[in-house]
Amino acid sequence: MNPFENALKQLDRAAAIGKIESNTLSRMCHAEREVSVSIPVTMDDGNVRMFEGYRVQHSSARGPYKGGIRFHPDTNIDEVRALALWMTMKCAVAGIAMGGGKGGITVNPKELSKPELERLSRGWVRGLYPVLGPKVDVPAPDVNTNSEIIGWMADEYAKLTGDTTGAAFTGKPVSKGGSEGRSVATGMGGFYTFDALREHLNISASATIAVQGMGNVGGNAAKIFESSGHRIVAISDSHSGVYQKNGLNVTGVLAYKEKNGSIKGFTGAEEITNEKLLELPVDCLIPAALENQITASNAARLKARIVLELANGPTTTDADDILFSRGIAVVPDILANSGGVIVSTFEWEQNLKSEHWSESDVLGKLKKILETQSQLIATRASELKTDMRRAAFVVALERITSALS
Ligand code: NAD
Repeated sequence: MNPFENALKQLDRAAAIGKIESNTLSRMCHAEREVSVSIPVTMDDGNVRMFEGYRVQHSSARGPYKGGIRFHPDTNIDEVRALALWMTMKCAVAGIAMGGGKGGITVNPKELSKPELERLSRGWVRGLYPVLGPKVDVPAPDVNTNSEIIGWMADEYAKLTGDTTGAAFTGKPVSKGGSEGRSVATGMGGFYTFDALREHLNISASATIAVQGMGNVGGNAAKIFESSGHRIVAISDSHSGVYQKNGLNVTGVLAYKEKNGSIKGFTGAEEITNEKLLELPVDCLIPAALENQITASNAARLKARIVLELANGPTTTDADDILFSRGIAVVPDILANSGGVIVSTFEWEQNLKSEHWSESDVLGKLKKILETQSQLIATRASELKTDMRRAAFVVALERITSALS
């Protein structure tokens, strides 16, 4: 399914149950600005190769545009549009004074050498810097982008503009103005959300968990849930997955992936496909990879008791209805994975004030926000007799409406 069509459907479905002003809805269906750039990169062999880059600035109603940059061969403008719209909703759900944006480059970064990747990252900034900035649009990492890449981008922005606050990009290395806690923030935020809703969702304090994806978000989430007494029974990357009924040794699996580039061939656990991982009988399924993983074609086969969406857009609206009718609660992405943008906003604030907060301060503030907003969304879902996704969209749209009025 086209992710942007899915995002528009989610908006409509929320508007159908909440009293959402039609003017707000019309504005949310369109990005305020979309920019595409052609990025010339001199490859190591001396030839110039062209890449397509994007920035979609969806809404600045509540503050500067905020959202990550994705490097992926399947990234296209529709995917970036959807991701930008979700960022607007996410920042509103978190109650932070940021709007929504997203960026990307259509590229398989695994095919590039490190110097080529750096030239490409700097090229994205050279193409887009006139529409970025601490008070305008503040990008961050997403799939296949990390603190090193963001560090190059922040450096390029500083060279082009003379702005050395570092506040134009978040997710930088701590040594270059990044925030303590940013690298674990999305996984940690997912855990705080889960913990705030656990009793409400009738999940035990030692739950079984399956995690799809083991990058920044999935890998950190697996470690955090394991260290908090939960059992990670399965985890996967884009190539393969591993399953161990009694619980995996997460550190061992992640170390194997780090060394070999993939978990294919990991011994001491059963190999499992991504499809089968999604259908395991676990207390909590955590999709932490890409969009469109839980759809009308597999939702009826899911055996998880709840789905905690740490990826953006992993569940289609058709699947939402099937899961809701089966009593499987979905903790939506715009709540569950908002830890990343919340701590990114803390980083931006620290850069603007020339401050450096401790990890315990950062995570303490994050926890407080997520406990409050998670409980508020669950209560709203009960009042509206609907799922948490629709309730979260309603809350977001109400907050955006008041910012617009
Ligand atoms: P990443 O690049 O660090 O990791 C992505 C992981 O997904 C890798 O392990 C990769 O092997 C795996 N993967 C890719 N395709 C897959 C497939 N078809 N099946 C199974 N696994 C697959 O990216 P990330 O930053 O961890 O982002 C993961 C998700 O979380 C994305 O949806 C992203 O938008 C979302 N997210 C990220 C952040 C953040 O702070 N990085 C914040 C909020 C949401």
